[in-house]
Amino acid sequence: MKISNVLNYIGGKWSETRETMPNLNPATGELICQIPSSQASDGSKAIEAATHAFETWSKTTLKERADLLERLASEIERNFQEFCELECLDTGKPFSLCRELDIPRAISNLRFFSQAIQQNNTDFFNTPNGFSYSIRQPLGVVSLITPWNLPLYLLTWKLAPALAMGNTVVAKPSELTPLTANRLAQAFHDIKAPAGIFNVVHGLGPKIGEPLVKHPLVKAVSFTGGTVTGRRVSQLTSESFKKTSLEMGGKNPTVVFSECDMDKAVKGVARSSFLNQGQICLCGSRIYVEKNIYKKFLERLVEEVKSWKMGDPTDMTTQFGSLISSAHRDKIEKYVTLAQEEGGRIVLGGQKPTLSGNNANGFFYPPTIIADLPDTCRTAQEEIFGPVVTIHAFESESEVIESCNHLNYGLSASIWTENLNRAHRVAHLIQAGTVWVNTWLMRDLRVPFGGVKDSGVGREGGKLSLEFFSETKTVCINTGEHL
Ligand code: NAD
Repeated sequence: MKISNVLNYIGGKWSETRETMPNLNPATGELICQIPSSQASDGSKAIEAATHAFETWSKTTLKERADLLERLASEIERNFQEFCELECLDTGKPFSLCRELDIPRAISNLRFFSQAIQQNNTDFFNTPNGFSYSIRQPLGVVSLITPWNLPLYLLTWKLAPALAMGNTVVAKPSELTPLTANRLAQAFHDIKAPAGIFNVVHGLGPKIGEPLVKHPLVKAVSFTGGTVTGRRVSQLTSESFKKTSLEMGGKNPTVVFSECDMDKAVKGVARSSFLNQGQICLCGSRIYVEKNIYKKFLERLVEEVKSWKMGDPTDMTTQFGSLISSAHRDKIEKYVTLAQEEGGRIVLGGQKPTLSGNNANGFFYPPTIIADLPDTCRTAQEEIFGPVVTIHAFESESEVIESCNHLNYGLSASIWTENLNRAHRVAHLIQAGTVWVNTWLMRDLRVPFGGVKDSGVGREGGKLSLEFFSETKTVCINTGEHL
């Protein structure tokens, strides 16, 4: 597929930048196109366009905004194949995953908030001498900063509630995955959305992300990415008390109890460990298995993961694609070396593969399972964000809860058990924003989503997203005699 160079999309027009940077196909190592390497002045232009658009957009009716999101969803649906191909090309993830997860979820995000906004009630408080009610008003221009692992999925997850509440948006996608954000801008253009409600500026975090976070006309920042970056964003926004939502990294535990349904647990844990090459913030990368089934479970897990087909992401039968970049693969390799230095035994994977043909220079790394490490070592404590998991045996429920909670991360966890009491008990005790029982990544867009400790500040999802992207105002009316 022939891809043109990407431009910024500002005020409903394509905008050139002084500098550009290359965008590579991670599955082949080849150049896809050049993208803008934007700087502060490009960000200011986008913020000015969004500020101007806000004057009109903030006064539109709920129905008008809901209709726009619906039209956008339909536009993506009409061009579904192209969106899937672009996401696959940019990320190296299997095309089948783009088709089953990324792009359908982007469409659902838009439709969900299109409907949610129309059912969003305001509060009313009656008192003897009058009444009060609260209304939600848009904030203004909001900056959305998103990572490379689920590019369109996460951008639309923020964009839909932001626009639904009457804000205008400046988005900065990851510099590693600009293509679907760029195609989304084209979709806005094609449906003749009001100019300036959605602007995209591409480029590097420190060079263009920071100006978008700091700018005084930006009223809120919604960020998803690593914890170190999130901390920096938080420092920059706290100066001016800007509303800030931070969805950050994790090192999520997976707990397999001996009374689990072994067949389901094996398949579920393989998926939670290695879907999207382990590059999902919610992936379980520390697997705790009760001692009396540890050996059997490990054998079964290895057997299951071995059956996954790694290779060309565009091949419909591929289940495991490439990593996002060569630098990311170097990081993964360093962790595998560290794991061995720390005394780990590589049970599966652990070596850069040799692929042929178009993918010979792609950034592939196989699913890797490491055993025999204490869960206090660095490999088991630091976020690797790739296809590397550690597996540990445990003896008691209290011991495993302690293991789950001893890190500074707390994004998600999954538990595999057929014991209902235990499921609830353990779920309540694990320090995480989401705990799944006998499943993983089962998502309902209404539920609160986010992390505790270093994994996040605030919650997204359903009405919480609508609340984040608005300010609540109380209006109090006196109907009595007294002042
Ligand atoms: P990253 O933090 O490097 O980058 C995220 C975004 O922030 C990118 O657009 C980047 O350009 C931008 N950025 C970088 N430095 C910046 C700065 N100084 N100011 C403003 N913006 C800046 O993360 P990544 O490598 O793209 O993504 C992987 C990380 O994201 C992992 O840690 C993963 O756990 C996390 N993640 C979290 C969630 C969640 O929901 N909690 C979801 C997906 C990914």
